[in-house]
Amino acid sequence: MRVLLTNDDGYFAAGISVLRRVLSRNPDLDVVVVAPDREQSGSSHALTLHRPLRFDEVEPGVYKVDGTPTDCVLLATRGGLPEPPEAVVSGINAGANMGDDVTYSGTVAAAMEGTLLGLPSLAVSLVGGTHFETAAEIAAKLLSEACTKGLPRETLLNVNVPDCSRDRLKGVRVTRQSKRTYHDEVIAKRDPRGRAYFWIAGDTPTWVASDDSDYAAVMSGFVSVTPLHLDLTHHAAIEALADWNLELP
Ligand code: MN
Repeated sequence: MRVLLTNDDGYFAAGISVLRRVLSRNPDLDVVVVAPDREQSGSSHALTLHRPLRFDEVEPGVYKVDGTPTDCVLLATRGGLPEPPEAVVSGINAGANMGDDVTYSGTVAAAMEGTLLGLPSLAVSLVGGTHFETAAEIAAKLLSEACTKGLPRETLLNVNVPDCSRDRLKGVRVTRQSKRTYHDEVIAKRDPRGRAYFWIAGDTPTWVASDDSDYAAVMSGFVSVTPLHLDLTHHAAIEALADWNLELP
């Protein structure tokens, strides 16, 4: 099976190279990397529409694209590679993608793009920056499950792995998205020419986490597997809007 690896940290990142090495141990997998040529964290599901994109081979089986994670998946699937991929694994991101953060995540968005293109897709994040090997082994297992059992329609798996060695993991939990309380700080300063600039900094978030949430699972030493649906409709809200006056003004 042809598996496309991508990320939002860049093709040179530790997470994607460990993922490639671990998945390549399986002789049934034909692993190819197509990833951004630079850090694209926080790029969400952005698509580059107003300039050409370059698709350059760095070494056999590794390509870099001067675009977003979503560009990478789209190009790889629609003509960039000699043969299109049959599954997508995005990551391993250096840092968690849980709760409301999934809406900013380029890692998750690349898996969304794979899902939109009809491919079984996983987004894998390490809640830290050390034990990528652990997360890669989890990714290999979940990829195999996703490809044998199949995923529900328009659904991707968002996987967050505690940053510890394999033997310290407690297990795997299927979870729901938690709620993050933002304390993001925007720092305002002046550049050497006296003009104001702003820098979005963001400090340690606090979480409103129910026991079945992604955050709670990771904090108790479990791998969190959250099925995410691309239909963002809040179905209960359709009913809540039923008594609005929606006659044209
Ligand atoms: Mn990232």
